[in-house]
Amino acid sequence: MIDSIKQLQVENSFAQLPAAFYTRLQPQALRNPRLLHANVDVARMLGLSPAALETPEFLDVVAGSAPLPGGQTLAAVYSGHQFGVWAGQLGDGRAHLLGEVISPSGPWELQLKGSGRTPYSRMGDGRAVLRSSVREYLAGEAMVGLGIPTTRALALVVSDDPVYRETVETAAIVTRVSPSFVRFGSFEHWASSPEKLRVLLDYVIDRHYPECRNADAGEPGGEHGAVLRFLQAVVVKTAQLVAHWQTVGFCHGVMNTDNMSILGLTIDYGPYGFMDGFQANHICNHSDEQGRYAWNAQPSVAHWNLYRLASSLLSLGVDAESLKAQLAHFELAFLQAYRGDMCKKLGLIQWEPADEELVDDWWALLHGQHADFTLSFRGLAGAPKDKQAFVAGFEDTAAAQAWLDRYVARLSNQSLPDQERVALMNSANPVYVLRNHLAEGAIQAAKKGDASEIETLLKLLRDPYTEQAGYEAYAAKPPEWACQLEVSCSS
Ligand code: AMP
Ligand code: MG
Ligand code: MG
Repeated sequence: MIDSIKQLQVENSFAQLPAAFYTRLQPQALRNPRLLHANVDVARMLGLSPAALETPEFLDVVAGSAPLPGGQTLAAVYSGHQFGVWAGQLGDGRAHLLGEVISPSGPWELQLKGSGRTPYSRMGDGRAVLRSSVREYLAGEAMVGLGIPTTRALALVVSDDPVYRETVETAAIVTRVSPSFVRFGSFEHWASSPEKLRVLLDYVIDRHYPECRNADAGEPGGEHGAVLRFLQAVVVKTAQLVAHWQTVGFCHGVMNTDNMSILGLTIDYGPYGFMDGFQANHICNHSDEQGRYAWNAQPSVAHWNLYRLASSLLSLGVDAESLKAQLAHFELAFLQAYRGDMCKKLGLIQWEPADEELVDDWWALLHGQHADFTLSFRGLAGAPKDKQAFVAGFEDTAAAQAWLDRYVARLSNQSLPDQERVALMNSANPVYVLRNHLAEGAIQAAKKGDASEIETLLKLLRDPYTEQAGYEAYAAKPPEWACQLEVSCSS
């Protein structure tokens, strides 16, 4: 463990790409920056000791006041489709890549978000509000706790600088950590510049998909084999990611192609939400009037986004049919991951064809009664033993009873001791998820400079399957006032 951020081993592979891929510039420091919270777990991943997080040089770096020693600070360019429409050039409009930390678990890129204007800011002010920064900071750890691939955050810095959104808010900076921040939109940006596209592709394959250099049995070969194998790998990772989102009731909220990680990580936490009452077409983002990114639309949107990624590879001379053949892997990869998750959540040893109907009817039951997503799944483990209690949780008790009878019959068709079934289910159905009202509590405290709610939530969300005494309220349905909460693209 290293006691100072100055001693980290830092490299800059992205900065070695041609200059067209980014602009080198320094962040705009915040006024009177304070470290509201530092993530000891992420620090450890980077090789930094807890003591290092308390030094002035750490604050200087994560507040954008000083460069990461050894790092070459830059903002990257990318493009993207926003809400289904080609938006042209976007890029890091309020983010600065600081460099990459070499650690035994690394390399990890460090990126500030909310660190000032860049050539890609367009009309934006380059800032991020404290509200959305707290939400981003918490979300990464919540995902880690759930075992879902994600970018994470190292530090959250607050300041005295005002930011103007619907009202005046406070500026904050989150230090994000990821193996890479390359997006589908990074490829789309170079769709008609085959030379640049090739450079980006080689960079990403060499660093993150080296196995795509060689064809294994059954994989596409030929002149463009590596491109096809790469696309297939991204298709599979993305399908698996979205399957995991579905089974925890996570809605991303802004699945624009510029918010899709090339590594299949959850990235760009904005107006996301973990569902409370289940509604299949739930829209978590108040700005998404058409419901393009509703919960039940996420798998098809991911596929559509992969289609955009595949299209951007055409200029390399790959034929369209071969690219399409890779996109076809989406369905199976999604279903395998989804069914695997659902088996655990329902305590099934393996998926049988008839489970499709049983599970669809479970969703229909939850949807019809707007039952709480997380509590319903968690309560299912005890349902066969205490039918009364389970059924009483639904308004239409007859419908719940009818479904439960089928479920109990299904369980009797497999030989899994009850104790083991319950343990399996309890390891897959969380007690705690990052409900909007819980994040809101942390935001309100953070506005007063108090990080204790962040601390509490991290404790619960990092181990979301274990019930902790004294935290019943964190596992409960949202209170009345939470109905008023709205999250939007404003961040
Ligand atoms: P998002 O919808 O948050 O993924 O952002 C889409 C694009 O807008 C990206 O290029 C962002 O960098 C940029 N952007 C969002 N908010 C701001 C802001 N306040 N200032 C500058 N650029 C921004
Ligand atoms: Mg974005
Ligand atoms: Mg964003």
